Amino acid sequence: MQLEWTEAELLETHAVEEPLFAGGVKCHGGFKADGEYVSPRTKNRWTAIENWKAEHTATFGTGVPGVYAVGDVNTYPGKKKLILSGFHEAALAAFAAKEYLSPGQKVPLQYTTTSPAMHRRLGVSPDLSDLA
Ligand SMILES: Cc1cc2nc3c(=O)[nH]c(=O)nc-3n(C[C@H](O)[C@H](O)[C@H](O)COP(=O)(O)OP(=O)(O)OC[C@H]3O[C@@H](n4cnc5c(N)ncnc54)[C@H](O)[C@@H]3O)c2cc1C
Repeated sequence: MQLEWTEAELLETHAVEEPLFAGGVKCHGGFKADGEYVSPRTKNRWTAIENWKAEHTATFGTGVPGVYAVGDVNTYPGKKKLILSGFHEAALAAFAAKEYLSPGQKVPLQYTTTSPAMHRRLGVSPDLSDLA
């Protein structure tokens, strides 16, 4: 999935576009053979936006590599400004940050309820006998 685009790519037009210039300004796009209207300079932009949206909700990365945005500060289709949304986003961002810091290193998903490693880190000794 392409996430990085040059300015020229983002401003590229469809081949079918027949721009109307008025006062030196490009005013409209063009029509494809099937009659669909395409806006000016949108040959790659829609794909770029869709790719960024998909990437954003998988990692909550920003335009700055290694910087993530979770909680009320971000927005995407279906976003609900709730505490649990921020926690969910933070978990995905944390995994993404780890991948950014240690590319390719597998990070197992562990539960605080059952992981002895996490119990050691947290300094707790829960009774797990009823899970056996
Ligand atoms: C009245 C109200 C009731 C709500 N009730 C519920 C509820 O019952 N259940 C629920 O799930 N959600 C509820 N929410 C939503 C929930 O509060 C938010 O979704 C959640 O607090 C977002 O957390 P956050 O960390 O992203 O942002 P915030 O909690 O807003 O934290 C952002 C922090 O950044 C600080 N900050 C801002 N700018 C700067 C800066 N430049 N430098 C340093 N610090 C800065 C702010 O002071 C703030 O402390 C409610 C919201 C409101 C307004």
